[in-house]
Amino acid sequence: MNTEVFAARHIGITERDLPHMLETIGVENVEQLINETIPDDIKLKRPLDLPEGISEHEFLNHLQDLAKKNKVFKTYIGLGYHESLTPSVIKRNILENPGWYTAYTPYQAEIAQGRLEALLNFQTMVSDLTGMELANASLLDESTAAAEAMSMLFEVRSRQQKKGDVVKFFVSEEILPQTMSLLETRATPLGIELVLGNHEDFDFSDKFFGALLQYPGKHGQVNDYASFVEKAKAKEIKVAVAADILSLVMLTPPGEWGVDAVVGTTQRFGIPLGYGGPHAAFFATKEAYKRNIPGRIIGITKDTDGNPALRMALQTREQHIKRDKATSNICTAQVLLAVMAGMYAVYHGPEGLKYIAKKVHGQACTIASAVEKFGLKQLNTSFFDTLKIEVGDTSKIKQMAESSSINFNYVDDKTISISLNEATSNEDVIKLMKLFMLFTEHKEDTFIENAIGDGKIPSTLQRQAPFMQHQVFNSYHSETELMRYIKKLERKDLALNQSMISLGSCTMKLNAASEMLPLSWAEWGNIHPFVPVNQAEGYQEVLKSLEEQLNVITGFSATSLQPNSGAQGEYAGLMVIRAYHKSRGEEHRNICLIPASAHGTNPASAVMAGMKVVVTKTDDKGNIDMDDLTAKVEQHADNLAALMVTYPSTHGVFESSIKQITKLIHDNGGQVYMDGANMNAQVGLTNPATIGADVCHLNLHKTFAIPHGGGGPGVGPICVAEQLKPFLPSNPVIETGGENAITAISAAPWGSSLVCLISYGYIKMLGSEGLPKATEAAILNANYIKDRLKGKFDVLYTGERGRAAHEMIIDCRPFKTNGIEVTDIAKRLIDYGFHAPTVSFPVAGTLMIEPTESESRAELDRFCDALLAIREEIDEASAEETDNVLKNAPHTLGMLTNDSWSHPYSREKAAFPLPYVAENKFWPSIRRTDEAFGDRNLMCTCTPIEEYMEV
Ligand SMILES: *Cc1c(COP(=O)(O)O)cnc(C)c1O
Repeated sequence: MNTEVFAARHIGITERDLPHMLETIGVENVEQLINETIPDDIKLKRPLDLPEGISEHEFLNHLQDLAKKNKVFKTYIGLGYHESLTPSVIKRNILENPGWYTAYTPYQAEIAQGRLEALLNFQTMVSDLTGMELANASLLDESTAAAEAMSMLFEVRSRQQKKGDVVKFFVSEEILPQTMSLLETRATPLGIELVLGNHEDFDFSDKFFGALLQYPGKHGQVNDYASFVEKAKAKEIKVAVAADILSLVMLTPPGEWGVDAVVGTTQRFGIPLGYGGPHAAFFATKEAYKRNIPGRIIGITKDTDGNPALRMALQTREQHIKRDKATSNICTAQVLLAVMAGMYAVYHGPEGLKYIAKKVHGQACTIASAVEKFGLKQLNTSFFDTLKIEVGDTSKIKQMAESSSINFNYVDDKTISISLNEATSNEDVIKLMKLFMLFTEHKEDTFIENAIGDGKIPSTLQRQAPFMQHQVFNSYHSETELMRYIKKLERKDLALNQSMISLGSCTMKLNAASEMLPLSWAEWGNIHPFVPVNQAEGYQEVLKSLEEQLNVITGFSATSLQPNSGAQGEYAGLMVIRAYHKSRGEEHRNICLIPASAHGTNPASAVMAGMKVVVTKTDDKGNIDMDDLTAKVEQHADNLAALMVTYPSTHGVFESSIKQITKLIHDNGGQVYMDGANMNAQVGLTNPATIGADVCHLNLHKTFAIPHGGGGPGVGPICVAEQLKPFLPSNPVIETGGENAITAISAAPWGSSLVCLISYGYIKMLGSEGLPKATEAAILNANYIKDRLKGKFDVLYTGERGRAAHEMIIDCRPFKTNGIEVTDIAKRLIDYGFHAPTVSFPVAGTLMIEPTESESRAELDRFCDALLAIREEIDEASAEETDNVLKNAPHTLGMLTNDSWSHPYSREKAAFPLPYVAENKFWPSIRRTDEAFGDRNLMCTCTPIEEYMEV
């Protein structure tokens, strides 16, 4: 074995496994299987035009060379991004720990109590600091969170009044530029009219449904918005505030003014800048809007035994189910980053946060008083950490600053702003003051020692309310204690370092350590997204190369890395299509055809893009019903904007009529959007351009090895054909996007740049040969599982020649006659040490299994053995007798060691049903959660659990 070939480490099966696997499937070789799986007319005839793969060692050297091209300046740009210090204990035990970063979204609460608790901490911290009743478990970035707030307030208002009535939304001119750009993107398709202005001049006319304020303002001014909110309320204008989380430690929380939503980012709570992301945004609101909150909320409930348990609350309102009635398309959020930020709050506690906030504020005051003594004007009458200074001529100070490796924010020709942060040392403060002294040619540096200014927060805006008084925020302040707390939570969670997570449509493959390592390096972590591009040449090279790699893989002309999730990619792609039609004078095209089997984010994104969703039927083989599609295309031909099609389909099948379908759309003036979340079955073998699509998103957090993080981060780039290239999204601060670009989709110019390193490495290391090999192995593994389960579990859909693609749906509905539901199987798999496959998507009562190429034959066999053993247990079960091993699953250690045991099966059968289980037993920490109880008694912050259980 050549030990340098990365593909051999990434792909789980070996040559030795092939004969048995091929025999099971009933083919001579892999080529035959692929020929029987992928329709001939869409197969690529040539290898990918990419270099050969490189070894892990070579990749790390390569990234070290590139890292040197990034210049790490002291950056005081602010504008929503601040250098922060990731506590090493968090970096090592969470960011660098597969137990945390490879976990899946916590749908299976029984094996996810650790990250659910970490997220509850995050929500509690956000609720307390903002002064709001409820917070979600993160959103994508501050600007999208602000846009979600706008949509939510619009929706809430529209429910009371007829739509089209009150459509104006006031935005304070203090808003961050990237937020304004994103609001424009979101407002237009919804028919919302944005009005930018000074909050003091606002007339509170009854044409406004809402307003958005920034606190502190983009250049640091701290305003008292109490009377604004009061006047707005009197006119039924809802108010959202974008707030800086660290400032809220010292400032009156907006919740005290009675605002309706508070949003922002938690980046400065220990998350690296990463040239723009990923970071966890927060969204806090009132209890009254709990059913309108975008994203996920963690709530407290109880399990079968009545013990407290956590789970995702109000799951039924998730977008998967709401579809075209959805107001938000958020699916993947920023869980890993939220876990880290919440843990930062746990580690520092309220006293630690106060120290950090006071230090930053004190340094700002010191510099403010010095620059004033030097004769410069500091313009913020009240501030937290950001000064706005009139310097006369910015070009001169810019030159001086850059030669000292310092970045300021250059507001205009004569004004700069400086934002201080946790990482600013007293030496840095002195350096800054000296720079101003030299700049003003002031010669008395005694000012510097004496420059301690007074606090610059007026008494009405000084925070009085205590925060984070819960035990969790006041217990783990030593490293040993926090390390053990993190471990305690980690042990409750099943991640990829325990066993296969065969989630159909989610592609839980290896996230290689070599892909992950560079994320910890300062040259990648510590770059602000708005530095001049010549300070980020290493990043520019990686991002450009990744765009080119993805162009080659998709067969398209251009890529935008901006969208922070698959759903954001969908939205971006549809907005680009919209802009394209508009540029051709065909603005009226607004019909979006979507097959019934599509992922729930598809219709949600289409609605957000201002399109009308028309659902088309699927036939009994799981394919698009051509007759129905043709009829609907003809019916809507004049207004057809797009078809959204998932390929291979959500049913795990390569439809052979795909080219006919895309042609039909083009012939009728529409564009074809391909949902590329399932790209794992295509890479190197076929591609979206070949099937006739015009744009697709890819989920880099599925196919391209970015870890799932427990529900984020994600990167959902869009790749487009030539005609759509001019419309790729822009950023208002740093130039990016097409020549006729739409406004921003994400806050940062290249979205979550830091984790793009992972996908870049994945493609670079696998190379032109390894990529198609990985795809073949993914298809082989899926078909192997399918044929091992044959006769015991029916696969719902297959291709024309009886093959699955990279995933398959097994039907669990027939077991109802034995009283067994699909959930029982999902929970029983936990007893066997496995995470359930995707439950009831896209078909209720089924499991969708996707093994990926990274699993070994031994693991595939264990998984099949478990399912086959469960199949026998199903046969033993009956609808009349519900005290059985499936209905009672999962079995906890507490249940099994209880002195009384009254069940008709043995404890051994419950806990150790197969020999392999005993060797590596995973114990769930709770029994099944009671969903209905939790939704009835919604509780989403860390209130003492005992108190709550008495309800
Ligand atoms: C995962 C997925 C999405 C949504 O991606 P997010 O990153 O979670 O927003 C969309 N479509 C399909 C088919 C998917 O599997």
